[in-house]
Amino acid sequence: MEKIILIRYGEIHLKGKNRPYFEKSLLKAIKASASRFGGEVSTEQGRYYVKGIPETSYSAALESLSKIFGIHSISPAYETDKDLESIYGLAGDVFEKKLEEMNRNEVSFKVISKRSDKKFSMNSMELSVEVGGVILDRFPSVHVDVHKPEVNLYVEIRDHAIVYTDIIPGSGGMPYGTSGKAMLLLSGGIDSPVAGYMMAKRGVALEAIHYHSFPYTSDRAKEKVIRLGELLAEYVGPIKIHMIHFTDIQMAIYDKCPEEQLTVLMRVFMMKIAERVAKENKCKALITGESLGQVASQTLDALNVTNSVVDLPVFRPLIGFDKLEIIDIAEKINTFETSILPYEDCCTVFVPKHPVTHPRLDKILKSLNLLDVDALIEDALSKSDYVIAGE
Ligand code: ATP
Ligand code: MG
Repeated sequence: MEKIILIRYGEIHLKGKNRPYFEKSLLKAIKASASRFGGEVSTEQGRYYVKGIPETSYSAALESLSKIFGIHSISPAYETDKDLESIYGLAGDVFEKKLEEMNRNEVSFKVISKRSDKKFSMNSMELSVEVGGVILDRFPSVHVDVHKPEVNLYVEIRDHAIVYTDIIPGSGGMPYGTSGKAMLLLSGGIDSPVAGYMMAKRGVALEAIHYHSFPYTSDRAKEKVIRLGELLAEYVGPIKIHMIHFTDIQMAIYDKCPEEQLTVLMRVFMMKIAERVAKENKCKALITGESLGQVASQTLDALNVTNSVVDLPVFRPLIGFDKLEIIDIAEKINTFETSILPYEDCCTVFVPKHPVTHPRLDKILKSLNLLDVDALIEDALSKSDYVIAGE
């Protein structure tokens, strides 16, 4: 008997002619994860098996695999030969482990058999009945409930016999990178990592850009952003984060433009720089964590202004989400704790007292004319660098 991991994939079934491409991308991600734990991947119609993972790494491997986009569900499973004696023995052992895990001995159960090897000596109905009998003999205080069982015992007859009790939901979505690459504007806040996660889940490969106001923002603030990148990397692999020196731009705006426009003008520069770096790095869109009405810079008027200074599409997957809904996802993907660490952000360093909430594009463009936008951007880029998070 061997302990394996059974992986089922979902939506990519639907993708017609693109299917081989999606399968290849998914397989690549699964192999990368499995090999970190010493596992080997094999494929069979609509599913993958990961084998050879040492017991000590097994649960870490399971967790890592469950983060891969495009996976529908995962089962910790056991494999054995297709003779009845081995199958009955394994079914009993797997059932026993489940009872131990539940710390119970009186449970209701049901056996669900599937036979894809039609030469096997029993059909699935007969096999379920036989295995059920074996379980009842070995564990006298359990009983069968075919409608609402507490334990489902799955027995599959394929190349080998496979037995398991649990089906863990996967991350869903599309294999990473199958929808092209986009540039995520990654602050140290709660929203932008969630926005990146959501686009990555739809198959978008991520590159990130962060604006810092060194020396007004500290190294710890930068470390926090890298940490957020590392947490996202657990889903998508290493992420390149461009670290943009934003201080001089903020100073220039502060010196030359109306104070109430400071935030909108900063956002205009962020978008322009993000677009430039995106294009240099083959990204086809920008992603932000904006949510309509959340703050002064996220009104329709403000969003229209920041949209109109770039020509790449800007994706805002959180636009219709409440803060609490965003926090739910941040907790689920484990970025929340890091996001709420209280380090200053470039936008909190320079905050106008009365920000315009309904900026007019003509007025903003007029203010931009007071600045040498291109020179400021060149200069900021020349003082910037990048890190790879999650390598
Ligand atoms: P978040 O929680 O993601 O920081 P927020 O609610 O604080 O968002 P804003 O500060 O208005 O909202 O920022 C809106 C979006 O602009 C962010 O979600 C992010 O995509 C981008 N952004 C803001 N500040 C930065 C920064 N310092 N570096 C990179 N992107 C930023
Ligand atoms: Mg923020």
